Amino acid sequence: MTRRKRSYRSLASLQRDNRVCRACAEEGYPLASLPVLEGHEGQRAMIVGQAPGVVEAEERRPWRGRAGRTLRRWLELDEEEFYGTFYCVSVTRCYPGRHPSGRGDRPATPREIELCRFWLDRELRLLRPAVIVPVGGLATKRVLGISRLDDCIGSRFELGDAFAVPLPHPSGASGWLNSPRNRVRLEAALSLLQKELSRAGVAPVGVRTRTR
Ligand code: SF4
Repeated sequence: MTRRKRSYRSLASLQRDNRVCRACAEEGYPLASLPVLEGHEGQRAMIVGQAPGVVEAEERRPWRGRAGRTLRRWLELDEEEFYGTFYCVSVTRCYPGRHPSGRGDRPATPREIELCRFWLDRELRLLRPAVIVPVGGLATKRVLGISRLDDCIGSRFELGDAFAVPLPHPSGASGWLNSPRNRVRLEAALSLLQKELSRAGVAPVGVRTRTR
C-alpha cells in the first residue's frame, strides 16, 4: 500500500516511501517496474528525466541505458562524477512498460504524471537544488511549463533560488537534434549549464560541450 506523508523531514524518509510507491498501479495503470531514483542530501544539482526505460527498470538506477551514456558524453562526466553531481529523478518514476503497439514505451498518462507530482514537489523543497536540469519535453513542461523545446533549449530560467537549464532528451527519438539549428541550441544549453554548475560550485570537472 502506498504511503505518503503530508510532509517529510528528510530526503531519506521520503525516498523510503517513494521507492515502494504503487499509487499508479493502485489506480489500474500497468506499471512494469518499481520506482527508479537516486540521490542524496546535499547535492546541489538535480536532473529531472521523463521516465525510466527498460534498462533503468532492471537495474533500478536512472540513466543506465544508451540515453544515459549520451547524456554523460554531452556533460563529459564519467559515471561516478555524474551520479555524484546530480540528484536523478523523473516526472514519473516507474517504467510504464511497452507501448501496446509494440513500438517504444508507453507514455505516462496525465493522471500518472499528476500522481507522481507529489514526490518531486517535496524533493524540491527538501533538496533545494541550485541547478535543475529538465531533460526532454515532458520534463520541461513539468518543471517550466514549456512544452516546445525550441522555446527553451539554450536559455536558463530562474525558479526561486535555483536556475533551470533544460536539455533535449538524449535518446534522439524525437528527431529534434537532427536540425543543425537545434544542435547549436544544445551547445548553448551545455555552455549555460557549465556556467551554472560552476557558479553553484558543483561541477566536478569542467563540463565541456560535445554534441556529436
Ligand atoms: S510513477 Fe510515481 S506516483 Fe506512479 S507509482 Fe511510480 S512513483 Fe508512484
